[in-house]
Amino acid sequence: MDFAFDARTEELRTELLDFMDRHIRPAEAVAHEQRSRLADPWDTPAIVDELKAEARKRGLWNLFLPDAEHGAGLTNLQYAPLAEITGHSPQLAPTALNCAAPDTGNMEVLAQFGSDEHKERWLRPLLAGEIRSAFAMTEPEVASSDATNIRTRIERAGDDYVINGRKWYISGAMNPDCRIFIVMGKTDPDGADTRRQQSMILVPRDTPGLTVERAMSVYGYEDHSHGGHAEVTFTDVRVPAANLIGEEGGGFAIAQARLGPGRIHHCMRLIGMAERAIELMCRRAVSRTAFGKPIAQQGVVQNWIADARVTVEQLRLLVLKTAWLMDTVGNRGAHTEIQAIKIATPRAVVGIIDSAVQLHGAGGVSQDYPLAELWAAARTLRLADGPDEVHQRSLARRELKKYL
Ligand SMILES: Cc1cc2nc3c(=O)[nH]c(=O)nc-3n(C[C@H](O)[C@H](O)[C@H](O)COP(=O)(O)OP(=O)(O)OC[C@H]3O[C@@H](n4cnc5c(N)ncnc54)[C@H](O)[C@@H]3O)c2cc1C
Repeated sequence: MDFAFDARTEELRTELLDFMDRHIRPAEAVAHEQRSRLADPWDTPAIVDELKAEARKRGLWNLFLPDAEHGAGLTNLQYAPLAEITGHSPQLAPTALNCAAPDTGNMEVLAQFGSDEHKERWLRPLLAGEIRSAFAMTEPEVASSDATNIRTRIERAGDDYVINGRKWYISGAMNPDCRIFIVMGKTDPDGADTRRQQSMILVPRDTPGLTVERAMSVYGYEDHSHGGHAEVTFTDVRVPAANLIGEEGGGFAIAQARLGPGRIHHCMRLIGMAERAIELMCRRAVSRTAFGKPIAQQGVVQNWIADARVTVEQLRLLVLKTAWLMDTVGNRGAHTEIQAIKIATPRAVVGIIDSAVQLHGAGGVSQDYPLAELWAAARTLRLADGPDEVHQRSLARRELKKYL
C-alpha cells in the first residue's frame, strides 16, 4: 500500500495551496463586504469572478470531472486531496474552481446522459463557469428521501412535456446566474416498477410557469454564497420533448449515478472544514489565557484537539480508500464505502466544529469567525444527498444479506 500522492496530485496541491493563501483567504472578507452592497443579495460579488479567472489561469478548473474530454481528467483519488483543500473555505473555493455543488453533479449528468444539443446549450456554458444550475428533486409534501414518493408530474403533450409540482431546498436557485434546472418528476406514476416511474427533464429558468417562490433558510442562514436554497413551483411549465434527459423512466437510475460522486465530494470538503476548525481551535487555545494559564494547557482542550486529529485521520483514510475503489471497481462496487463515508463524515465533523465553537466562547457562535456557518453547513450534510438513517438502512441490509 502506497500512501503518497502521485506527481500530478502533488503539483496541483502545491498550486492550490498557494491559490488558497494568496487569493481565497484574503477574499473571504472582501466577498462578505461586497455582498452587503449588492442591489440583489443573491447576485455574485465581483471578487468571485476575479477568483474564477485566476483559478482558470492556474489550471485549477473543473478538477472534479474525471472525463478528460470535458474536465481535468483526474481520478477520484487525485481529486480527493484537492477537494479537501477547497473545504477550508467552502463558501468561496469550490465556486472559484468551478467545482461547486450542485453544478458538479449536473455537469456529470449532462456529460454522461445529455444529448449533443443539451451539451452544447447547457454543459458548455456550465463548464466555462458562465452560468449556474440547480437540481430539483425534494418536495415539501412528501418524504423525498424515498424517490418513489415524488409527486411532480411530467406529462407528454404532443411534442412537449408539461410539468406541474412543488420543490424545495433547491440549492443555487436564488442566484440569477442559475439558468437551468434539472427536474425530477413522474412520467409514469402508475407504472408497476416504482423505480421506472421517474424521469429527468431540463427546464430553463425563464420558462413561463416556473416560479422561484422564496429562499429557505438553514439554521437561520440564507446561504447567499451558494445561491441559497429555494422553494420553486412548476405550474403548467411546457418544454420541448427533446429536453428529457435520457429516456422516459430513466430518472431514478440517473439520480443514483449522480449522487455517488456528489457524496464523496461532500465528504472530501468536510474533511477540509474539520482541518480549518482544528487550525482555529489551536490558534485560539494558544492565544487566550483563563484562570492563570493558556487555554491550550487545559487537559480537556488537549483531549478535544487530539480526538479531532485522530478522527480526521480516520475519515481521510476511509475517504481515500473509497475514492480508490470508485476508480478501480466503479461507483457500484464502492457502494458500501460511499455510504460508510456519508454516514461517518458529516456527524464526526459536526462534533469537531462543535468543540471549536466551544473553545471560542461567544466568538464561536458569532459572525466574526466562520465556525457557526461551518457547523450549520456540516450539519445539513446529515440530511442532504440522503439522510444518515437511509444510508444506514441500506448498508445494514447488505451486511445482513451475507448471513441469510
Ligand atoms: C441545505 C440543504 C440543501 C439541499 N439541496 C437540495 C437540492 O439542491 N436539491 C434537492 O432536490 N434537494 C435538496 N435538499 C433536500 C435533501 O436532499 C432532503 O432533505 C433529503 O433527501 C431528505 O428528504 P426530506 O427532507 O423529504 O426528508 P424525509 O424523507 O421526510 O425524511 C425525514 C427523516 O426521516 C427519517 N427517515 C427517512 N427514511 C428513513 C429510513 N428508511 N429509516 C429510518 N429513518 C428514516 C430520517 O431521519 C430523515 O432525516 C437539500 C437539503 C438541505 C438541508
